[in-house]
Amino acid sequence: MDSTHVVRTRFAPSPTGSLHIGGLRTAAYAYALARHSDGKFILRIEDTDQKREVAGSTEQIYSTLRAFGLDWDEGPEVGGDFGPYIQSERVSLGSYKKAAEKLLQEGRAFYCFCKPKSKEEIKSERQFKIEFRDPCRHLTPEEIEAKITAGEKPAIRLKTPDGETISYTDYVLGKTTTWKTDIVDDAMLLKSDGFPTYHLAVVVDDTEMKITHVLRGHDWQPSTPIHLLVYKFLGLPVPEIGHLTDILNPDGKGKLSKRNNNVSCEQYLADGYLPEAILNFVLLLGWAPKDNQDLFTLSEFVEKFDPKGFQKSNPRFDIAKLDWLNGQFLKRQSDEEIFSHVKSLFDPQIPAEKIKQVIPLAKERMHRYGDILSLTGFIFSTPQYPADLGINKDYLPDIINSLSTSDWDKVSIETSLNELTKAKNYNRSDFFMTLRLAVAGQKVTPPLTESMIIIGKDEIISRLKSLT
Ligand code: GLU
Repeated sequence: MDSTHVVRTRFAPSPTGSLHIGGLRTAAYAYALARHSDGKFILRIEDTDQKREVAGSTEQIYSTLRAFGLDWDEGPEVGGDFGPYIQSERVSLGSYKKAAEKLLQEGRAFYCFCKPKSKEEIKSERQFKIEFRDPCRHLTPEEIEAKITAGEKPAIRLKTPDGETISYTDYVLGKTTTWKTDIVDDAMLLKSDGFPTYHLAVVVDDTEMKITHVLRGHDWQPSTPIHLLVYKFLGLPVPEIGHLTDILNPDGKGKLSKRNNNVSCEQYLADGYLPEAILNFVLLLGWAPKDNQDLFTLSEFVEKFDPKGFQKSNPRFDIAKLDWLNGQFLKRQSDEEIFSHVKSLFDPQIPAEKIKQVIPLAKERMHRYGDILSLTGFIFSTPQYPADLGINKDYLPDIINSLSTSDWDKVSIETSLNELTKAKNYNRSDFFMTLRLAVAGQKVTPPLTESMIIIGKDEIISRLKSLT
């Protein structure tokens, strides 16, 4: 591929709070699309709406993306040929103003002197939209002159034509969408303070940064006709544009909502989910490989990535899948690594050596680090037996006899118990479930014999006796 055809993608978050799980997905797809074809992945901070900015979130975006291994080739902190990569710092380059003025000169934009609208006004206008044209587009040159002389500072709006259509074919959805321009706003491009709006900045920056593929959330699709008109009027080539499907609530009803779900990547990390698992989880929300492989490291994903794998239907946010994936990645960790994460969860009285002994036993059954406590609590202290433990007490005297005379190693314990079940013709699953419940007070445990060995013979016999 020659340098003019290098794939260049970008992730362009606004620093308005923690990184949304959907944002992580967008970033990961853009990263994979670039890296799969030896292209470049660019990070750009879109902070032109400074009222919405949340202090500290820019730095948080950097560290969260890095926690997932999504390093950028160009962008803040790493530089690149097309910087600065933070929009507020790009204002002084003058490109936004130049673009807006070009549109003005060519009759594709107009000065607007209206008072900026409040959030509520914008919201209610959107809901009951019938008027797409701004009154200032009809101001005469004399009226404009008079306002400017009187010290009014104008904004610049797009002069959206009537009676035309504008289309694009979505890179992700594979679908062509056409809008009638009559229902496309006279969108604000440059605010009266000289800051661009998203609509102008995105076109200017994607052009100047030579972005070849724009991937973004579905929410942005209604803005696309505005961008297409700006590209057209500035005579600029339009990159591939792809909108990712909406992630749905676990019940499949409605878009994933903050109210009932955790949508913050930082929160999932703080809850002890592994970055590999969270990333793997989001990769599969809207993309699938041909062979249905479902466990990926980031580099395996980059290698396999194929835009044909984008799915057209909206994926459901199935948290059970995240737990499963987390368990899979936990199993790949060494016992020492797990120990370093779980040691602080245990009662400080418990010796480190004892915790180390239970890790290999619990590992197979853990979905999260914290699971080790519920899985192994019975090893460190006598369980609180529920009133309805549901054991067959008839087995207990035999079990006590058999274990009292057995040596305390795996082979001896298992041999004596097996001989007992054979000699008495006991139902094995019933018998061993009774033993498990009597030892642990719960049905799900790490391997039982190994657990009993760590607990110790005296304690086991005493637990059994207490239940007779
Ligand atoms: N700044 C937008 C956001 O935070 C990104 C829009 C885009 O990628 O074009 O979602």
